[in-house]
Amino acid sequence: MDPRKRMEVLAAELLRHQHLYYVLARPEISDAEYDRRLDELVQLEERYPQYAGPNSPSRRVGSDLDGSFPERPHAVPVLSLDKLYEAREAAQWLRKTAAACGNDPGFTVEEKIDGASIVLYYERGELQHALTRGNGLAGSDVSDNVRTIRQVPLRIAEAGSLAVRGEIYITRDDFARFNAGLPEKYANPRNLAAGSLRNLKSSLTARVPLNIFVYEGFFPMGENSGRDHLEVLARLRDLGFRINPRLGFFCDSEPRRRKAQELFPGAVSAPLAGVEDYLLRLGTARAGVAYDVDGLVLKLADLEMRQELGFTAHHPRWAMAYKFEAPQARSELLDVLVQVGRNGRVTPVALLRPVRLSGSTVTRATLHNQDTIDMLELGIGDQVAISKRGDVIPAVDEVLEKSEANPSVYRLPERCPFCASRLVRDGAHHFCRNGSCPERQRRALSYFCAREQMDIESLGEKTIAFLYGKGWLRTIPDIYCFDYARLEGEEGFKERKIARIRAGVEKSREQPFARVLAALGFEGLAAAVAAALIAHGFDDVDKIIAGAARGDWEAFAAVEGIGEVTARQLVDHFTAAANLELIARLRDAGLRFRAEGPSAERIDDSFAGQVWVITGSFESFNPRSLAADEIRRRGGRVAENVTARTTHLLAGASPGSKLAKAEKLKVQVISESGFLERLQSGKQSNNGG
Ligand SMILES: [Zn+2]
Repeated sequence: MDPRKRMEVLAAELLRHQHLYYVLARPEISDAEYDRRLDELVQLEERYPQYAGPNSPSRRVGSDLDGSFPERPHAVPVLSLDKLYEAREAAQWLRKTAAACGNDPGFTVEEKIDGASIVLYYERGELQHALTRGNGLAGSDVSDNVRTIRQVPLRIAEAGSLAVRGEIYITRDDFARFNAGLPEKYANPRNLAAGSLRNLKSSLTARVPLNIFVYEGFFPMGENSGRDHLEVLARLRDLGFRINPRLGFFCDSEPRRRKAQELFPGAVSAPLAGVEDYLLRLGTARAGVAYDVDGLVLKLADLEMRQELGFTAHHPRWAMAYKFEAPQARSELLDVLVQVGRNGRVTPVALLRPVRLSGSTVTRATLHNQDTIDMLELGIGDQVAISKRGDVIPAVDEVLEKSEANPSVYRLPERCPFCASRLVRDGAHHFCRNGSCPERQRRALSYFCAREQMDIESLGEKTIAFLYGKGWLRTIPDIYCFDYARLEGEEGFKERKIARIRAGVEKSREQPFARVLAALGFEGLAAAVAAALIAHGFDDVDKIIAGAARGDWEAFAAVEGIGEVTARQLVDHFTAAANLELIARLRDAGLRFRAEGPSAERIDDSFAGQVWVITGSFESFNPRSLAADEIRRRGGRVAENVTARTTHLLAGASPGSKLAKAEKLKVQVISESGFLERLQSGKQSNNGG
């Protein structure tokens, strides 16, 4: 036989047997027979090196030549995932994402293996490059080392460009055995896996018992690579890639769950409600898994919906990592700072010896309340473990070592550190009940002026603290009656700064009612609650006061998004004499206590049950929000993106991609003139009936 032909036949056979052996664990020939054929190929390649391809099965044994790891760009940016540390929060994320998608979306849950991340690039069926994650935009080319991993297909039956993401890992048993024979020990399996990919001699990598699972495939653009993630995984499996059989699929659609079971008979398939149990169960079971798993990855399975959700600056919005353990650091409790909020709630804050933790220096951690401190048995001087859960303030997880000098547990003071009034315990928290407590007043002022509320940028925390210290600002109405001319001559208050403060205060009088309402700072009356009240007819503060005067908490609870606790709080807030006086004084100062503009008034229900998306520009509705107002005033909903739930697309001039999407989904497309007609006819039928 022609040597070139023979080499091709041998290569194809050997790759097939490698796949049978290493991926499917179903060998068809003996090891000796395999070695005999491989020897024959190696000998032929030595005689005819011009015919030896880069993906020859002989590459599995690696080379003794020193390689290098040039950097190459990633065809698809490798983004990291957002992280959560509580199963409950991960389940919440899933529910929220499902609600944003509508239409019974499916989610996969896959193991997050603690190994080395890799991206495999194929062209015309050949493995071209294997790149590490690097900075996400470019990675190191470790192809020669990756080619030695027998579970990595070197040739695949896919002609187009394909990028495959996976994790290279080593089992704990293999790690223990292999590490024992190394002169320089690795700390853990992950480090050995990552280090092996950077061996200069690929013949060394070939000896390390590395494994791979792949979990994402990017098939050529425009090609129908399947509608959901499970189909992509199944296709990768058919091409010879190793897919982790520990796979969960969560979806409320029974037919989709059945289909998932057909594709992956070993997978767990359940309704969305089952996800939290599953996360907790896998978290507990991970000790029994042969390799290190540091979390689970929740991914929206619907590819088209992924496209719609898109990305934040750093993470895809359609995926979330649930990590079993939050990153921890060791520190020391130096002192406890007692904070008092505008509503009097006392929050103890741990002051810590500065320590680096996941990319930032931590000096403080919340302690929530006395119960938390008691549970931790925490005292000043103790050595503590702290962690960051998500992006919130760090928390103290446990005491690692009690202080010898001070073995006691910290106790909150009996009196408010700012006004010396006795602290009162209510539920889990302590409160300062003194309405004229300087700290509470200062905080109420800061809250009122903050960006999220009245947005008086020129009255920042420092300026407020100064004005408060002088006795010039005490309560919120003082902001509007204080004569800022008195600041002239004070250090740090030049003419321009005073003018800016005046202008900021003036401008804030124009803030809409919703902001004013939330800025009052009443407990439970957050911005979302204020907006809900207004949208449901409480669009004038007098209507709210009247409802509260009747003790009608049920009317508040009937508002979507307001529960009984908040509803009862509203009754208390809007009947308290001090609050009514505050409202009266601010009303006198010219603040808005009534929602203005047409958006407040409901006209009829002619658009009830409809979900509109607005695109393009309009003559009668500029800005577009005016059109949105008209839809809402008639009981319709307005959404940002066209989905299967969309009922109407309002398309103005130059409508863009949303129009194409709407036409594809057979969504009714309405022009500006058609829309104006509908607004008219709705009004008429309403008047007629
Ligand atoms: Zn106080």
